[in-house]
Amino acid sequence: MSLNTQGRPTRPEVSADPGAYADTFSGSRGLDQAEPLIFERASFGNTGVDLPEPKGAKTRLGGLERENALGLPGLTEPEAMRHYVRLSRKNYAIDLGLYPLGSCTMKHNPRLNEKIARLPGFAELHPLQPDSTTQGALELIDRLAHWLRTLTNMPAVAMSPGAGAHGELCGLMAIRAALEARGDARKRVLVPESAHGTNPATAAMCGYGVDSIPANAEGRVDLAALKAKLGPDVAALMLTNPNTCGLFERDIIEVAQAVHAAGAFFYCDGANFNAIVGRVRPGDLGIDAMHINLHKTFSTPHGGGGPGSGPVVFSAALAPFVPLPYVVHEADGYRLVEQAEGAARPFGRLKGFHGQMGMFIRALAYMMSHGADGLRQVAEDAVLNANYILASLKDVLSPAFAGPCMHEALFDDRFLKDTGVTTLDFAKAMIDEGYHPMTMYFPLVVHGALLIEPTETESKDALDEFIGTLRHLAERAKAGDRERFLAAPSLAPRRRLDETAAARKPVLRWRPAPPASAAAE
Ligand SMILES: *Cc1c(COP(=O)(O)O)cnc(C)c1O
Repeated sequence: MSLNTQGRPTRPEVSADPGAYADTFSGSRGLDQAEPLIFERASFGNTGVDLPEPKGAKTRLGGLERENALGLPGLTEPEAMRHYVRLSRKNYAIDLGLYPLGSCTMKHNPRLNEKIARLPGFAELHPLQPDSTTQGALELIDRLAHWLRTLTNMPAVAMSPGAGAHGELCGLMAIRAALEARGDARKRVLVPESAHGTNPATAAMCGYGVDSIPANAEGRVDLAALKAKLGPDVAALMLTNPNTCGLFERDIIEVAQAVHAAGAFFYCDGANFNAIVGRVRPGDLGIDAMHINLHKTFSTPHGGGGPGSGPVVFSAALAPFVPLPYVVHEADGYRLVEQAEGAARPFGRLKGFHGQMGMFIRALAYMMSHGADGLRQVAEDAVLNANYILASLKDVLSPAFAGPCMHEALFDDRFLKDTGVTTLDFAKAMIDEGYHPMTMYFPLVVHGALLIEPTETESKDALDEFIGTLRHLAERAKAGDRERFLAAPSLAPRRRLDETAAARKPVLRWRPAPPASAAAE
């Protein structure tokens, strides 16, 4: 098998018939039904509803009128139901089992949040309603903003960013606006090697050159290397804390001082806030801007691309540049500010409307139901659970760094040395055992990384089952059971796929199979 420099396989080496269904006549596996694409299943003339042909309706589309059939698949109602229910049973979800995906904070989403978000007064809001009819919603945004500022000890917050990566963009655009306002165009952004890929991507999108800072042997940013790279053309440092190795950046105060002494701003990637919420206020560390992933720390559902919400908190130096819109509370109620007013110099606007309202409701419900002591306990239990995993597995897996971790336990692939099994094979074997794999091959500073984040919502029993499974798999790999790992997953609906081809040559459009005669030519 060929590996790249991170120890990641570049092509799958799979057992016979990759992608095949199990060897049953029907293609189903037990009660897990095989299900083709909806286009393959459908008859195009069918419909699940009986509507009369519209009479006397005239098209007003002129020359733009459709000439061919729309080509939508037609299913009866029971066929449509079965199609989606069968697909949903192939999904792995936090409501199904432990989801140890490091850096993603896949914790339980309390049902209370869902109940509140479905109250008709919230659920049926329209973003174009006048402020006078949405006072409760604006108050909710304002209250959530208040608690985000309080938890971080930062004076300003932008609520509109639609995800963490969008928050990073918001933060760097505010930094760029602040630098331009003082006539100080700078060219570089410093990003540690262990950063999430969205950090350098954001800096590049904002027109900055990206300079990477190495990690030291302890998995933390190398302070001397950072100081050596700081200079009058550095706009910002983007640092994740706790970082993506699951470690607290011990030198963070000194980092902030050095960054500020160089006239630069300190951006913190706050995706891992779950590990410190209620315990550490980022404003006390000298941070200028930090996004908070409501969908991670504050338990709004995520995965599969959304919806997310990434409010950004700002220091006093950046507060004037916070983007539009924002909510203000005045004598006669709440008002949404949509145009620059007074001393504010917003860098612009990131998004239509005011942000992800449904996520705001869930996040505030989560905060209020936990209270200050509950939120602190979230961080404490998240760290406790991760350390339980680290301590319980350190004799069979290989911890990447010595000492305790924060909210996630990072292992490298030294424990698989000479077994012929890679991190990828190990992860695929976890699928056969009923677990979604942990984050693999990230962060890049560790060879063949396995990054496990259990979160605080797993019980000790659930952790013990997970630990038992990983111990068993590690022992099987060391005992020479290589074939089992290379064949995995054997029990999933699909076997091992060529992920490189899927990423490089995605088939995004279904086309009917060509007639047999054309195919033969
Ligand atoms: C999740 C994450 C991001 C990006 O957040 P999205 O909401 O997925 O855009 C950035 N950095 C880190 C460390 C993350 O874990």
